[in-house]
Amino acid sequence: LASRTFQEEDTVIRVGGLEIGGDTIHMIAGPCAVESREQLMEAASIARSCGVTMLRGGAFKPRTSPYSFQGLEEEGLRLLAEAREATGLLIVTEVMDAKTLPLVAEYADILQIGARNMQNFFLLREVAKVDKPVVLKRGPSATIEEWLMAAEYIMVGGNYNVILCERGIRSFESYTRNTLDLTAVPVVKHLSHLPVIVDPSHAIGKWRYIPAMSMAAIAAGADGLMIEMHPNPAEALCDGQQSLTPNNFINVMSDLKKIAGVM
Ligand code: PEP
Ligand code: MN
Repeated sequence: LASRTFQEEDTVIRVGGLEIGGDTIHMIAGPCAVESREQLMEAASIARSCGVTMLRGGAFKPRTSPYSFQGLEEEGLRLLAEAREATGLLIVTEVMDAKTLPLVAEYADILQIGARNMQNFFLLREVAKVDKPVVLKRGPSATIEEWLMAAEYIMVGGNYNVILCERGIRSFESYTRNTLDLTAVPVVKHLSHLPVIVDPSHAIGKWRYIPAMSMAAIAAGADGLMIEMHPNPAEALCDGQQSLTPNNFINVMSDLKKIAGVM
């Protein structure tokens, strides 16, 4: 179902008045995690003012350490809904398990399956039953074939609105958090009709290199980007080292607009 041989023309996902996978490049931006009303509202209003169409922010966070901030859970979802109300931005947020799926689906416009859950086949089958688009992140050590098969699980269950997100894979290189596999963009575009976006933040893990690789991702043919931006990265409860400051984010957006039809 995900294959280009099954469907020749590009899939265009229509959600909340947006068309993802069409001619327009869409930007998803926001903090790693929802931390407070002030933090989220500030991030949302900066995002809105420079043409972002979707707000990201985790309410349920898959953290490496159980002692790290795990997210505000339902309160975080409520704040996301408030930010949507205030800005008109669509909400993209991660769902970590089947148990919390009904709750997350109540608030989210687009569900995110995190890299660590890419092969949680039970969860994939559950999101297949929900009438919301799904951002499916590539697993940290998943081949392109495995990633497309994960998309297949969602589609065969009845949900054709899958957006593939390249977010870096594990390699021997340790200077960056992961290795951004930009080759995946043209390869997946060749093999599949689904929209492909790139998350340079989790791929690289260091804010300094996000602008260059954002431009590169668009040049490679990505349909959009997901970027972490925080009003005050130094104080972030999660992923501050890879989050752009509002000023850096505004600069990236203006550079992107010079090379592509970014909203
Ligand atoms: C995220 O987007 O917040 C996240 C945890 O990303 P990933 O699943 O790609 O690590
Ligand atoms: Mn993050």
